[in-house]
Amino acid sequence: MVLANPTGTWSAADGAALYGIDRWGDPYFSVSDRGHVIVQPRGDRGGSLDLVELVGELQGRNLSLPLLIRFDDILEDRLERLHAAFERAIAQYAYRGRYQGVFPVKCNQQRHVVEQLVESGRRWHFGLEAGSKAELLIALSLLDDPEALLICNGYKDRRYIETAILARRLGRQPVVVIEQADEVERIIAASNELGAAPFIGIRAKLSTRSTGRWGSSVGEGAKFGLSIPDLLATVEALRAAGLLADLRLLHFHIGSQINDIAVLKDALQEAGQLYAELTRLGAPMGFLDVGGGLGIDYDGSRTATAASTNYSLQNYANDVVATVRECCEPHGVTMPTLVSESGRAIASHFSVLVFNVLGASRPPITAPEPGEQEPLIVRNLRDTFAGVSGHEPLPPERLQEAWNDALKFRDDALAAFRLGYMSLPERAMAEQLTSSCSATIARRLEDLPAGTPVPVELERLRASQAGTYYANLSVFRSAPDTWAIDQLFPVLPLHRLDEQPTRLGTLADLTCDSDGKLARFIDRGHSKALLELHELQAEQPYWIGLFLGGAYQEVMGNLHNLFGSTNAVHIRLTAGGRYSVDHVVRGDTNAEVLQAMEHDPLALLERLRVASEAAITRGDLAIRDARRLMDHLEGSLRQTTYLQG
Ligand SMILES: *Cc1c(COP(=O)(O)O)cnc(C)c1O
Repeated sequence: MVLANPTGTWSAADGAALYGIDRWGDPYFSVSDRGHVIVQPRGDRGGSLDLVELVGELQGRNLSLPLLIRFDDILEDRLERLHAAFERAIAQYAYRGRYQGVFPVKCNQQRHVVEQLVESGRRWHFGLEAGSKAELLIALSLLDDPEALLICNGYKDRRYIETAILARRLGRQPVVVIEQADEVERIIAASNELGAAPFIGIRAKLSTRSTGRWGSSVGEGAKFGLSIPDLLATVEALRAAGLLADLRLLHFHIGSQINDIAVLKDALQEAGQLYAELTRLGAPMGFLDVGGGLGIDYDGSRTATAASTNYSLQNYANDVVATVRECCEPHGVTMPTLVSESGRAIASHFSVLVFNVLGASRPPITAPEPGEQEPLIVRNLRDTFAGVSGHEPLPPERLQEAWNDALKFRDDALAAFRLGYMSLPERAMAEQLTSSCSATIARRLEDLPAGTPVPVELERLRASQAGTYYANLSVFRSAPDTWAIDQLFPVLPLHRLDEQPTRLGTLADLTCDSDGKLARFIDRGHSKALLELHELQAEQPYWIGLFLGGAYQEVMGNLHNLFGSTNAVHIRLTAGGRYSVDHVVRGDTNAEVLQAMEHDPLALLERLRVASEAAITRGDLAIRDARRLMDHLEGSLRQTTYLQG
């Protein structure tokens, strides 16, 4: 459908405001006067790249879309901001302790990402958090800073615990966090056997209830953490085993994407008191780990809604520092080193998923040519269409009347068809004319003077005119949380932002699954079902970016319909406004996704070769065509699973 442009002027700033980029994008993403999305990978510290030019040049390097562009400078800037926020808070509240964060590996386990974080985080002794044996292996191997913490969460068997104990001799600092009541027995047994203990942490099950999607991560029903009686029993068990001197850390995690800062404050107070109690019970302690949950403002609305947060990074740091101080000071307890496991907050911004639109469905605006001797019902529809297609202005009442007529005639046509009085081509004609009426009426609504009241039914008609844009992407692979948990990410065209979008639409992906679509979009504290998009231009690419998806999406993505990973690149800003392509990670080929399902690509090919030989022998297939077929099949095995531009 066509959107109104009451003033007739539209600038890149309007485009930026429409998609909210000036709210959620700050300081990394903005719009240039040319209407292109601009990336400032170092935030406020200067330097920018035109994302459209960048994508063009990456395509020139044979990196086809969909493409995941990772800006390592952004990753570094996020780390910098997190530490700066805690440093400011520590200074402001005269906190007598440090901040020392860790990155939860589960948020993005990609090698280049973890390596970059370890490298960039070295100056703050930034560490890692692991939740499984495979993640522990990554963390132990990559985290070579002896002062950095390695927080070991998740279920732990004897081997996991012994690994953590022995790794201390490599100069690593693993902290084994007791998450289940029975883990303490295994820790005691392993320590006795090895004659050495790990650093020990305890995860508390807080009574504070979080709100939102991850609210059930806390409270009595939580999967992880010790209840208060279990916590006390664990302390006594450690004391009895002579291991209380190794109890160094209290941990809690109240779920991801905390929307409301009030929830965090409650949890911090509870955890702060627990920490003080643990020191009173004789544990040396030293570290308070406030877990993850630091949220991202996906829609820029600054509200306690699902796609937003009602606090800033600085508010978060202030609350952590101030609350822990308030809990410790009156009891004379030494203020702990503060640890956080912020994943989403560190890794969301740095990657941008870029995909192209392959085509769009267009609602009809002209009526099909009349046939000979059309039945009365069809002629009625044709008259209705003619009535709304003229040039004279029509008030909403007349448009409503015409739409009522069109609906009545369409129902008549259906009834006539059911009863055998109307042929299939006649019914098709009736349906086409009905669509032409609805598209034209929707368009006429746009001609009405601004502020004219429009009947609800016609408003609905307007929405029903939305187009479907076909996207070269699998949401199951690249944005699984949009499907699994209705998460919203900012989605917008990378160019033409200086041009008013004239259509509303949804984005359908390549999979054969009706859920494979993007059909909810950010809208300042709410969501909207349709996104403003531009009319496609012949021979011109239309590139869309999905932003803030650097956390969780890659690993949660799956092979639905056998669409594999996309191409990915790591970009670094260099002097003179240029950039370097530091790493290229090729997307899965068709051969690779077939192998993932235990198929042998060469064996599949061989069976088809045999079948084509048989067809040649039968005279059903020319040798030239057989070769063409085999070339296509062989070629596609080496290519990515997406449509080639
Ligand atoms: C998932 C998880 C995190 C990371 O949470 P974010 O919301 O991404 O910061 C931190 N700690 C634990 C224990 C987790 O399970």
